[in-house]
Amino acid sequence: MIPAADNGLFDFFSTGTWAVIRNLTLFFVAVFWLSVGFWVYKDARRRIEDPWLVGMAAVLGLVPPFLGALIYMLFRPPEYLEDVRERELEIKAMEQRLTRRDLHCPVCRAEVDPAFLVCPVCTTRLRQSCRTCKQPLEALWQVCPYCETPVEPAAVELGQSQPLTPPRRERSA
Ligand SMILES: [Zn+2]
Ligand SMILES: [Zn+2]
Repeated sequence: MIPAADNGLFDFFSTGTWAVIRNLTLFFVAVFWLSVGFWVYKDARRRIEDPWLVGMAAVLGLVPPFLGALIYMLFRPPEYLEDVRERELEIKAMEQRLTRRDLHCPVCRAEVDPAFLVCPVCTTRLRQSCRTCKQPLEALWQVCPYCETPVEPAAVELGQSQPLTPPRRERSA
């Protein structure tokens, strides 16, 4: 029985079946090896900006086979580039929101533009405008930087703010 089995095994290896199985295995290993290399290249492109480093990562994904991919996974950047960019944009937007925090109407807290002269919601005077060129002026400015007209004192500013609240009842009466 044993020699028969040996013969069977011998026949199995001697026939083309073994060669086909071996070649198929080698073929699939090679395909898997190339897929791993391609995956490393794709992954590196999403994580690394420098094209030279991406190339090096792709080579590492292929050589040494499979082990290189593992080494790459240990040392690859933890974040995708798009996530990093998204976070940077979020931080920028947050900073803008923080710097804009002061630009609210002191009376009704409505959001106002730096160029607004009055609050559009409650008509509170936010800034004085230049007598000559009508540009909005900062509170501390002594002179209009656009046309060199001296800025009038604050008392006049208060006097100007009165006609801005429209006396509707007087008009209707
Ligand atoms: Zn207001
Ligand atoms: Zn001016």
